[in-house]
Amino acid sequence: MKILVLNCGSSSVKSQLIETDLESIETNSDRTLACGSVEKIGMTSSVVRYEPVGGEVFKDTPEILEHKVAIDRLLHLYADPTRGVIRSLADIEAVGHRIVHGGEKFSQSAAITPEILKQIEECVELAPLHNPHNIRGYRAAAELLPGVPHVAVFDTAFHQTMPDYAFMYGLPRILYKRHAIRRYGFHGTSHRYVSYRVAQLLNTSREKLRIITCHLGNGCSMAAIKFRRSIDTSMGFTPLEGLMMGTRTGDLDPAVILHIMAKEDLGLSEANALLNKHSGLYGVSGISNDMRELEESAREGDRHARLAIDMFCYRIKKYIARYAAVMNRLDVLVFTGGIGENSPRSARSVARSWTFWASSHRTRTERRHPPRQEDCISCVSGPCMVWVIPTNEELIIARDTVRLILTGDPRPTNR
Ligand code: AMP
Repeated sequence: MKILVLNCGSSSVKSQLIETDLESIETNSDRTLACGSVEKIGMTSSVVRYEPVGGEVFKDTPEILEHKVAIDRLLHLYADPTRGVIRSLADIEAVGHRIVHGGEKFSQSAAITPEILKQIEECVELAPLHNPHNIRGYRAAAELLPGVPHVAVFDTAFHQTMPDYAFMYGLPRILYKRHAIRRYGFHGTSHRYVSYRVAQLLNTSREKLRIITCHLGNGCSMAAIKFRRSIDTSMGFTPLEGLMMGTRTGDLDPAVILHIMAKEDLGLSEANALLNKHSGLYGVSGISNDMRELEESAREGDRHARLAIDMFCYRIKKYIARYAAVMNRLDVLVFTGGIGENSPRSARSVARSWTFWASSHRTRTERRHPPRQEDCISCVSGPCMVWVIPTNEELIIARDTVRLILTGDPRPTNR
């Protein structure tokens, strides 16, 4: 089946056309046919990019003022007689939508009906910067492709298995009742994909594995996955909590922000920008939020770049120890995301110290640089396996869409 995957942000639409079915999910032989995106929607020169797999990249900069026009443009590229990968739009059998927040309402993906859409709208106040754009994308796609099923896949759903003692904050309980204040966690489709994939590569069931997944990109989060269930994750009520990230603080004594607001006379939106946009790797280094630039600067002797990288790695190590403790053991540690997949130096530093903590074995990462695409980077006799697995959130969205349509159940089989 040909599935269109859509990820709509405030001024962008990212999409992929993926061919998949139940058999190809089992054998990991489903494939992306083409990718297309539109950025800078609402500006005079939006950026359209389309790439059929194995074909030439097409770029254009037309004026695109709204999401519906952007999606229409992409649909016509997928079905274009020369560049396209389908004969007509009728070849698209379903659409999978990335929806950031499903609150406590969604613990798995759902076919979008008027009732489901209402429930997604009720989650808007939990993710006011994301859900409205996801919904706008759905409405546009539903008008352009009215005859096919549309499925919502939530970033938060995978973490709905957390026990209450992991998701509750030490605040008066009434605030949970009144405002749904709790840990939700994000990057759920990524954590789910890499934990599924590593079990598949090991030819074993996730029911037998205690896995820690580290999604290290511009946003970073980790998850403790015990016997296929997420039992804890580092992002919280919002994607600000947990690891230090490109421009976000991660964990911080909440009193610090109250103190800074008073001392620097900051308002709410300035404080919000400080925590989310001016901190993290960027704020500490004063150079960049990009790990490549920081590694380069650190190599040239910049001590602030070095400090930012050391803080980044140190926090990951602390979370590994926490999550290994809550699971009573660790079988597999997985790195993914732009930094996790490409920055062997950071992954090596974290993996080496983890294995040192548990045993004196050296990791194979010391010899292999950089890791191959999907790669076990630990030594055979180490205390746990360490893997690099490129994430593929779009594939999870396409697979859930197909499973829901064909079986009524989006949950993967027990691998
Ligand atoms: P993502 O959000 O997953 O696309 O990851 C983005 C981040 O990955 C960038 O900010 C970079 O810091 C990092 N990154 C991408 N490629 C590399 C690389 N080759 N080496 C180190 N870091 C990288």
